[in-house]
Amino acid sequence: MATSTISTAPANAVRPLIEQVAIDLVHRIYGAEGPAWGTRLTAIEDTILAVRQVLSEKMLDEALQRQANTAEKRPPEFRCRSTCGTEVVATKEPEPRIVATRAGDAEWMEPETTCRKCRRAFFPSEQELGP
Ligand SMILES: [Zn+2]
Repeated sequence: MATSTISTAPANAVRPLIEQVAIDLVHRIYGAEGPAWGTRLTAIEDTILAVRQVLSEKMLDEALQRQANTAEKRPPEFRCRSTCGTEVVATKEPEPRIVATRAGDAEWMEPETTCRKCRRAFFPSEQELGP
């Protein structure tokens, strides 16, 4: 069986779960006997790449949404874009954010926040994501 090294500790910690999910997905897609005889390897490859894309984008969405949900509880060094350290408050309804990443498009809802001291409005994720 092919094994690859997962390069991050968080991913390595859930490797057994990932492997079980992979087994479950193959069962759901191809059944107990696997792909029908005559199925081209490239067709299996395309299906697996499509599953990987959905999994990657869903994980990005979920991780960034969970972080955005804590926008008002950010540590001081992440509070204000101008790093004044002042608490920020959510000032508008959450808006959709879409960012292209190496793992696919990330989409989540994020509240615009305002720094009370600087009177500047911004989306909290902007300083981590960079230009
Ligand atoms: Zn500020």
